[in-house]
Amino acid sequence: MKPKEVLEFSDSALMIIWEDEHESIYLYEELRQLCPCATCNELRQSGERGKKGKTPFKRIIPLETPLKNLQIKPDRIDPVGLYAIRFKWNDGHETGIYPFEFLRRRCTCEKCKPN
Ligand SMILES: [Zn+2]
Ligand SMILES: [Zn+2]
Repeated sequence: MKPKEVLEFSDSALMIIWEDEHESIYLYEELRQLCPCATCNELRQSGERGKKGKTPFKRIIPLETPLKNLQIKPDRIDPVGLYAIRFKWNDGHETGIYPFEFLRRRCTCEKCKPN
């Protein structure tokens, strides 16, 4: 499954229209948190591993970033081959490559939501 169009839905959300006409909307903030790159994966895992939490999940966003004031959104969205897109986030992070399959599986619309 591939997107037919990738659009800015609002200041805080992205819309993907898929080949099968299905429409998905993703909050940038959620996409940022889902970042599938190795660094973020590791941070998430160490976050999940424990309350001992030497590396809390929040650290995905660099510490110097004034989190509360930052509206996470992409500065750029680039295609990666024929299978993925990459976001360059306004917090400077840009190593996350989001395969289309990954995005489609995370569609949060009524139809796709598990009950
Ligand atoms: Zn990442
Ligand atoms: Zn859906």
